[in-house]
Amino acid sequence: MTITREDCAARDHCDRLAMFRDRFVLPPGVIYLDGNSLGPLPRATPARLLEVAEIEWGTALIRAWNRHDWIGLPRRVGEKIARLIGAPPGSTIVADSTSVNVFKALAAALALRPERRVMVSEAGNFPTDLYVAQGLAALLGRGHTLRRVEDDDIAAAIDADVAAVLLTHVDYRSGRMLDMAAITRAAHAAGAVVIWDLAHSAGAVPLDLAKCDVDFAIGCGYKYLNGGPGAPAFLHVAPRLLDAVAMPLTGWLGHADPFAFDGDFRAAPGIARGQVGTPAVLSLAALEVGVDLALEAPEDAVRAKSLALTGLFAGLVAQECGDFGFECITPAEEVRRGSQVSFRHPEGYAIMQALIARGVIGDFRAPDVLRFGCTPLTLRHADVWDAVAILREVMQMHAYRAPEFRVRHAVT
Ligand SMILES: *Cc1c(COP(=O)(O)O)cnc(C)c1O
Repeated sequence: MTITREDCAARDHCDRLAMFRDRFVLPPGVIYLDGNSLGPLPRATPARLLEVAEIEWGTALIRAWNRHDWIGLPRRVGEKIARLIGAPPGSTIVADSTSVNVFKALAAALALRPERRVMVSEAGNFPTDLYVAQGLAALLGRGHTLRRVEDDDIAAAIDADVAAVLLTHVDYRSGRMLDMAAITRAAHAAGAVVIWDLAHSAGAVPLDLAKCDVDFAIGCGYKYLNGGPGAPAFLHVAPRLLDAVAMPLTGWLGHADPFAFDGDFRAAPGIARGQVGTPAVLSLAALEVGVDLALEAPEDAVRAKSLALTGLFAGLVAQECGDFGFECITPAEEVRRGSQVSFRHPEGYAIMQALIARGVIGDFRAPDVLRFGCTPLTLRHADVWDAVAILREVMQMHAYRAPEFRVRHAVT
């Protein structure tokens, strides 16, 4: 059956999440399909940033660390993120970047299995995860190797030599979602420690880290959590491991008593040891607004709408752009799908530039992937219709052939 724009508008009419759209600043004339890379600005964020700058910083000065509990921000926002990802209280903290947290979690995981020398990851994992694993192996200098395997071979690759398994739950290129419970079980059966990168999961898909018995997790603050450019990331450590975990970066804020200014490092009890140095207060304040918004949205409604939007996007591209050579690489099966739809096309870069010039903002991932993030809090079904109609026009008119769309920018 042909899907019409009226069908899409009708779905928007009974959308339980429709009221969330107004809670964000969205420029007119833009259909934003990149909330998986940089979440849009929550309407409440600028006022909060102004408050932190002018009132907290401007008038309380150094006293704000206590008076406005700046010192408690990493824990406080971490507790809120824990609720979003199904993690127990006291297990999650906001600190550093995702890349740095990959390093911290992976090093801590390897230290829990000192007699083993293999790290397992997925061949197409996000490069920072792979690079950090390679750099850590070189730094340790004890012969650790990185075993990179295809999705379907992950469980089979986890044998008695494997110390740690480092995986991204939702793939950044294709949007395919791995079975967190099954892989974690397989890893534990083989005696390995698991680290899940939730960069494309937190705030987008239901997560239950406690139920899956996950050892470590890390995730991004500026994607679906809408914390703003360069927002700090989060680190989760299972409570059963916390007291045994040795963090590789032992800074003063991970110390049991930072203001004792003791000359010897003693790790703080619990997840506080996941901190290294002084938190980025302004960024954390912005992140808290985004996380509060995410917590307001019922998880089942978010997942249902996300699947509806991604399914609609893929269906409409097949219906409207079937002749133009797009290959959908996002799994059709719902349990294997995150919150984005991706297509391969040899002209992918130029097509995405032509779309962006028309206000349809997705992104491009080398070598040939067009990526469309579907953020349920802001995107309407009718927007998906309009985006695909513009894609069709770009293809029909060969608009992507214009020379200006072939210029490669630093950020794609
Ligand atoms: C976006 C992303 C990151 C980002 O890491 P940064 O340190 O914030 O640059 C890491 N891992 C994955 C899987 C990502 O998608």
